[in-house]
Amino acid sequence: MQPQILIIYTGGTIGMITDPETGSLKPFDFNHISEEVPDLKKIPYQLDTLFFKNPIDSSNITPEAWIKVAKLIEDNYTKYDGFVILHGSDTMSYSASALSFMLRNLAKPVVFTGSQLPIGVIRTDGKENLVTAIEIAGAQANGRPIVPEVAVYFEYKLYRGNRTTKLNAEHFEAFASFDYPILANAGINIDYNYSKILPLSEKQLEVHKQFNTNVAILTLFPGISQEYIHHFFEIPNLQGVVLHTFGSGNALSEQWFIDELNQAIQKGITLLNVTQCKMGEVIQGRYETSKGLEKIGVISGRDITLEAAITKMMLVLSEFSTVESIKKELTKSYCGELK
Ligand code: ASP
Repeated sequence: MQPQILIIYTGGTIGMITDPETGSLKPFDFNHISEEVPDLKKIPYQLDTLFFKNPIDSSNITPEAWIKVAKLIEDNYTKYDGFVILHGSDTMSYSASALSFMLRNLAKPVVFTGSQLPIGVIRTDGKENLVTAIEIAGAQANGRPIVPEVAVYFEYKLYRGNRTTKLNAEHFEAFASFDYPILANAGINIDYNYSKILPLSEKQLEVHKQFNTNVAILTLFPGISQEYIHHFFEIPNLQGVVLHTFGSGNALSEQWFIDELNQAIQKGITLLNVTQCKMGEVIQGRYETSKGLEKIGVISGRDITLEAAITKMMLVLSEFSTVESIKKELTKSYCGELK
């Protein structure tokens, strides 16, 4: 039987065409997707499409939109062999991370893709991205899906979704996965990196649909003032902060800084240390400048990306409330976001 794939269009450039009257970009009717991409008819898969009634630029994506996508996958999970999520590239890494944490025990491919140029433009990258993402979502070996995880496909490469970062606002190769190898490379053949793909879960899919958005990111910079830090931690209802640090998780070692952070922790705010470096990991205690953080109970985010850190924190804080349980969850790898 042909693999059955559900395409969910949330918005973004890929689904746009130029309005001949106004010259501006507008979402096209996804019911007619095969008119825009006739090659879809040649794929030996059964394709169905669903779309957001009001497609969004991904800069407007919200946890509510993630829940909507997760519900569509959950409601159609048994009917389809794989899912392709069309999404703007700007926040695709956040959405792919969030979905990877929401879809527990996932045993089917969920492939995010989009494009830098609209699908109706002659030089579009959208057609290749779409066609190959569909092929990957339906790819099977011995009757089992080859990529049973949340992935991002862009410009001939397949990445683990929660390891990606949008890196380039202009080039077709818009994404990178700095601390984890690619899952596949699409050339003449699609070469899968089998040993790097998550194993198939034998358990029942469970969909987590809650987020705690009382979180924030504190990016450090030389010259950061005590007032800034102090007021930051006075954000009402703040419960979790990703501390975006230097190098291998280092921060200023001045006493006022450590005291401000310590007071935040005493108030019950979770602090997760994530490096501003694109590659490498946080090792608290390696330098004097991170020893203080370790001592007061800042949690090491190791090699997690910023996008995965903030989305995972929103999920974990919606589910767990004790210091020990939050730390346990944030330091354990849910689906390959941490080594
Ligand atoms: N601004 C667009 C979006 O993220 C860009 C894109 O589609 O890649 O929705």
